[in-house]
Amino acid sequence: MRNKDIIINASERKVKIDKEILDKMYMYKQLRFRDKEAGGILIGREEKNTGNWFIEYATEPYPKDRRGRYYFDRKDKQHIYFYKRLYEENFQIYAYVGEWHTHPEDYPNYSSIDIKGWRNIAEEINDIDKTYFHIIVGRKDIGVWEYIQKIDRALRIY
Ligand SMILES: [Zn+2]
Repeated sequence: MRNKDIIINASERKVKIDKEILDKMYMYKQLRFRDKEAGGILIGREEKNTGNWFIEYATEPYPKDRRGRYYFDRKDKQHIYFYKRLYEENFQIYAYVGEWHTHPEDYPNYSSIDIKGWRNIAEEINDIDKTYFHIIVGRKDIGVWEYIQKIDRALRIY
């Protein structure tokens, strides 16, 4: 399966999602009844002079994550270790961007648990100006949301 990069025009800046991570996430589409939700974290970098974002890495489920048909709970510390390693090895240009997970529905929407999770992450990081992008992978399409802590809302950008 080959995908193209996704380039989103979101409020005066662009968000590019690399095809490599789309390929990776699409492997976990819940196409069969027994498929469990999958997920991980998204890692990217901001181009400082334009404000454009490049989402270039995504972690995949690790053994200690909790997974069921209708839930994914990112419990394994290896997601964060992966990010920290990348951050240290690349002159600290990479940032934690957000979360991705799958849903067993064709066209995904976030659940009340999802928005609570996104809110909790922003509260934990505690940086009001930080940008967050979250992806949900459905069976036929993906959704991308920008979570804005100032207004406590997730705006769909794709
Ligand atoms: Zn969800």
